[in-house]
Amino acid sequence: MKKLLTTIIILSLQVVCAANAKVISNEKIISAKVENASKIIKELQNDMQSYTKKGSGPFVAAIYDSEGNLVVKVANSVVNEHCSNNHAEMNAIKAAEQKLGTYDLAPYNLRLYVTAEPCIMCVGGIMWSGIKEVYYGVPSKKVEKITGFDEGFKPHWFREFKKRGIVVYGNIEPELGEQELHKYVNDGKKVYKPSR
Ligand SMILES: [Zn+2]
Repeated sequence: MKKLLTTIIILSLQVVCAANAKVISNEKIISAKVENASKIIKELQNDMQSYTKKGSGPFVAAIYDSEGNLVVKVANSVVNEHCSNNHAEMNAIKAAEQKLGTYDLAPYNLRLYVTAEPCIMCVGGIMWSGIKEVYYGVPSKKVEKITGFDEGFKPHWFREFKKRGIVVYGNIEPELGEQELHKYVNDGKKVYKPSR
């Protein structure tokens, strides 16, 4: 039994190490930030299904302040609110700005956490919002492969964000997020995109 427990602990540690090794960033990786983001992104992933059951989702985003207090948590609402702009990140930014009564979030030193990499629109939206740090789970290439969503073109966005003082961490705990996206597609949910 003791040997089995030791094996399980060793295997768990390897998984954690392997997961952290895949994380990418535009700053020197700070493990405390990755650990905190992993916890939050896992919570958001666990919420994905409850949002899709209500007709929104599948993507979920949250904004936290620098002391770890939740400011807002929302899902994508493109289909149920009939608005192509209503991605989770855009909804989170709008909700935070309305809550704080400002168009500039920079003085609040806020962090955005999202279950998947921001698309072309959300990268622009984040740049305009004053969000200071961005953490995401599933990378765009994987989102496109699983769902057929078109995430758009984002040349060198990590580098461009760095120039503007915005920190990005990506590929954080993507596995559960990928599973949830598979489930969204397998359940026959809407892949919303303009007809070409
Ligand atoms: Zn988006």
